[in-house]
Amino acid sequence: MNPSYVRLLSQTLPIVRERIAEATDASGREFDSVRLVAVTKAHSVDAVSAALDAGLADLGENRVEELEDKVAKLGRDLATWHMIGHLQSRKAKRASQLAHIIQSVDSTKLANRISKFSQEEGVTVRILTQVNTSGEVSKSGFDMASAVDDILCIAESPGIRVEGLMTMAPFGADKEKLTSTFRGLRKIHEKLRDQGDLVGPELSMGMTNDFEIAIREGSTMVRVGTALFGRRT
Ligand SMILES: *Cc1c(COP(=O)(O)O)cnc(C)c1O
Repeated sequence: MNPSYVRLLSQTLPIVRERIAEATDASGREFDSVRLVAVTKAHSVDAVSAALDAGLADLGENRVEELEDKVAKLGRDLATWHMIGHLQSRKAKRASQLAHIIQSVDSTKLANRISKFSQEEGVTVRILTQVNTSGEVSKSGFDMASAVDDILCIAESPGIRVEGLMTMAPFGADKEKLTSTFRGLRKIHEKLRDQGDLVGPELSMGMTNDFEIAIREGSTMVRVGTALFGRRT
């Protein structure tokens, strides 16, 4: 194990947990109501080992190749692996076999691919559907206007379990913009939950720079990389 990641995490993890605790306190929520997904993308296997050693059980990766490499070296079932990056349809099968949950299902086409594969294999794949709450063309995800209909449709597909929604806030936005972005996702989620239990309770929102705001707006899962492992090169 690389001692520098161990040392780094011994400093950064308590700070991140404290930030989560303050945000959950401030909104009258339990600390345990927010899951910390440690985003290890672009960091070495040593970072992953150090994270596991520190008790971080949820890990996020954004590229199938990197996920595959880390799973091959460390084993799949040491952690809950979250696929958080844009996924090409042709890699959907591989991603479904490697990750325990795919957070970045951003199109009906991709959802259909996963559904087809999982029916063939006789498995159920856990997913989150990604919503483009900012409207930026550079961001993937379902459009706000049609998200409810599209996601309900996907949730009815066999072989898929939609556990909730995911979004990425616009980069560098101010506090008001971030608040309205996260609130927008929560509103869509509420509409979906009004339809029954077809869509699960998870709201994956918040990263290093904005997770306190996301928690105040109801996030159940924060995806944190930089605050834990430092800047990616
Ligand atoms: C990289 C990434 C993160 C982590 O971002 P940080 O700002 O480093 O915390 C979270 N979510 C997604 C989808 C990412 O690609």
